Amino acid sequence: MSEHPQCKYPEFKKCDANAMCEFLAARITGNGGGGRGFHAICTADLNAPPGGPVTFQGVAFKTKAEDNGLMLNFCPFCGGKPGQMAQPKEPSSPAEDVQTQPGKDTVETT
Ligand SMILES: [Zn+2]
Repeated sequence: MSEHPQCKYPEFKKCDANAMCEFLAARITGNGGGGRGFHAICTADLNAPPGGPVTFQGVAFKTKAEDNGLMLNFCPFCGGKPGQMAQPKEPSSPAEDVQTQPGKDTVETT
């Protein structure tokens, strides 16, 4: 029986827009291809040269190879938000909803 591991971890970064924590990173099984597990989803700028910077979009969990995967809104291990897609959206100004015209009823009584 091995020794009980020290209940002490080095200081580590939580998942954020650009990186994932070591707990999640250690459990990544693929990059979108392959089967069940956590997949790191990154996109590259198509105008950039090969090997250029990539954007960390997030982590998806797939149940099987045919599954498209579901992006994590937060990391189950550290509680952080991994990747760009998990970041809180800027409160956008109220969308210009379909304008109903309340003053213009189409009731025509003759
Ligand atoms: Zn994490």
